[in-house]
Amino acid sequence: MTKTSEATRSNAAKTTAMRTASKATSRAPGGFCRLTLTINGDNYSVRPLPADFVGIRAFRLTKRDGEAHDVARHAHGAECTCGDRVFRRDGIDPKGCKHIRAARAVGLID
Ligand SMILES: [Zn+2]
Repeated sequence: MTKTSEATRSNAAKTTAMRTASKATSRAPGGFCRLTLTINGDNYSVRPLPADFVGIRAFRLTKRDGEAHDVARHAHGAECTCGDRVFRRDGIDPKGCKHIRAARAVGLID
């Protein structure tokens, strides 16, 4: 087998793989999806909140036990409704609580 035929076969395999991936992607909007954010081993489901509800961008992070915190990006910074942010970090730590740091790390807020 020549190098040219190997390259042709390789390109054919890539094209088939791309078509397969394209079909899978095109089916995704009709399927079910969810966003889970893992913070220090705890999984939080992430749901967007209406932007006018609390800020420019806002998300509700809910753990399996039902504990939920709202993380929002306002014009003046990021906020979270958790006790750590409200009682220990508000006005002291600009990096925020673990929820804000995680939301920033994955690009949910800036
Ligand atoms: Zn928090």
